[in-house]
Amino acid sequence: MLRATLLAASRSPQSRKLIEALPPTRAIVKRFVAGDSLDEAVTVTDELVGAGRRITLDHLGEDTSDAAQAAATAEAYEHLLAALKETGLADRAEVSVKLSAVGQFLPRDGERIALENARRICAAAADAGTTVTLDMEDHTTTDSTLGIARELRRDYPWLGVVLQAYLHRTEADCAEFAAAGSRVRLCKGAYKEPESVAFQKKSEVDKAYIRCLKVLMAGEGYPMVASHDPRIIRIAGQLAQWNGRKSDSFEYQMLYGIRPEEQQRLVDEGATMRIYLPYGNEWYGYFMRRLAERPANLAFFLRALATR
Ligand code: FAD
Repeated sequence: MLRATLLAASRSPQSRKLIEALPPTRAIVKRFVAGDSLDEAVTVTDELVGAGRRITLDHLGEDTSDAAQAAATAEAYEHLLAALKETGLADRAEVSVKLSAVGQFLPRDGERIALENARRICAAAADAGTTVTLDMEDHTTTDSTLGIARELRRDYPWLGVVLQAYLHRTEADCAEFAAAGSRVRLCKGAYKEPESVAFQKKSEVDKAYIRCLKVLMAGEGYPMVASHDPRIIRIAGQLAQWNGRKSDSFEYQMLYGIRPEEQQRLVDEGATMRIYLPYGNEWYGYFMRRLAERPANLAFFLRALATR
């Protein structure tokens, strides 16, 4: 119930105004977001790379309803990728892109515009010597996003996709995307989805995650295990071992600011550990999904409000 309310608020302009105006919000957002600017994003990337992490950078923004804004987002990614190349970070840091931020929801030609903007970003990544992963948004976009991914992969076979274990369809999608050279980030899924398309209970989502992970680990692709869940992380390690995978043939992924000690433990074990690092001032939707995921994050936010 609380999760559903917070996820509904994550798409409400009224809630956005209210939350953004609250005095302690900024300080708490800082826990999950590198900063507003490109420079701050590069500085934090450099620190994390120095501490043995790989990075995937997200220029925050989603649900763009303006073609000029979509093009500006693609340009921001081009600047980011040029900066990663210049600073020598591109061999450790890639980018994550939400297609809705580059035009997917535009009423006229949205898919085509998103494809063209994503292609610009892929070209800049290829020039920098790094890769791109397409984030996955709510289920109404899954077919469109995977279609655009298939198209882009003709020229950029390293393009990563995200599959969400809570969707009933995902086990079949894993089978398709477990092919050689394919980079697949498996996550549980962060949006409010109806029963008709998604498992609702945590226990069902967890079981689906393991079924999907078995397919990916047994396949010929490169699985990216995106979860903070200790049980999932343990099982992923076992599955990798059973399938004879070395630490460079799969990776763990976690969000910036979440379970840093566990990130360090995995790095110390010799695992490949990538951090999803968002930056920019369009943090509202991302931040609300983090509050929805974990009551402790919400409690922290409410405590900060109460102590002011
Ligand atoms: P949960 O089921 O949320 O938590 C399980 C357990 O993990 C908890 O009981 C606790 O033991 C531990 N845990 C979780 N959070 C914390 C914490 N803050 N501190 C301490 N312990 C904690 N979703 C999408 O829909 N699309 C995407 O493109 C996408 N990309 C992602 C990229 C990355 C790198 C990651 C890590 C997640 C991404 N997600 C994405 C979000 C994902 O779908 C989940 O909503 C989110 O990761 C929460 O699920 P979980 O697997 O971490 O476990």
